[in-house]
Amino acid sequence: MPELPEVETVRRTLDEALRGREILGVAAITWPRTIAAPAVDMFCGVLCNRQIWGVRRRAKYIIIDLDNEDALVVHLRMTGRLLVVSEDEPVDPYTRVVLILNGSEHLRFRDVRKFGRIWLLDRAGLEQLDRQLGPEPLDPGFTAEALVNLLRGRQARLKPLLLDQRLIAGLGNIYADEALWRAGLHPLQTAGELNDEEVARLHAAITAVLADAVARRGTTLSDYRDALGEMGENQNYLAVYGRQGQPCPRCGTPVERVVVAQRGTHFCPHCQPLSSS
Ligand SMILES: [Zn+2]
Repeated sequence: MPELPEVETVRRTLDEALRGREILGVAAITWPRTIAAPAVDMFCGVLCNRQIWGVRRRAKYIIIDLDNEDALVVHLRMTGRLLVVSEDEPVDPYTRVVLILNGSEHLRFRDVRKFGRIWLLDRAGLEQLDRQLGPEPLDPGFTAEALVNLLRGRQARLKPLLLDQRLIAGLGNIYADEALWRAGLHPLQTAGELNDEEVARLHAAITAVLADAVARRGTTLSDYRDALGEMGENQNYLAVYGRQGQPCPRCGTPVERVVVAQRGTHFCPHCQPLSSS
């Protein structure tokens, strides 16, 4: 599933392609459940002849701001892709939504597994979404002290806590595993037991792992592509994720995989000992 670096890469490529463009209409919605809200006929009515102000990101959501202060909000989930292509490009059977742009192009939502969702939200809806999400880990306000405050007294284990979008926005399975490895912390460590130095290490690891992956335009393991259809490069730099049985890049111990909260979790048993404090 795309996480912060992948969604941010899609956002950047989309913003370049869409800023200032007009949505002339809706050419097709072949899987109506993709449109989570409002009803499909209302969705089409509101979108017609709207100008796009720009494309932002909040957590794993792409937010396409429109000139009436509404926004198209897209969650790619497992296999969703937003693509800006010429209207002459053949529409493949996995394309669920086609919006017509000025300049003879389409904004298409392609989604093999059909878990992706699109909302058309007004300002109140956008504010409500924002309130449900934790801080952005790449924002300057996300400091080591802020993370200390977020983790203080928490009885939950680190891995599931890092995946909780209400605590920190944008981390998923890949970058949670990579950040814990970089910080030298065990995924089953109780969050509230970390001392300030360990939290500072975790904070540095989260921001570095995410910033590096943004710079490498995301991790493409299967479906993820940016809005131009290009793959990312961060899959060539993963330390533990998906590398069970292979040597830890730091110490050579084979990487282990366990299941934590129903998610495959990868770690180095030597570099990430479970400590009791
Ligand atoms: Zn190691």
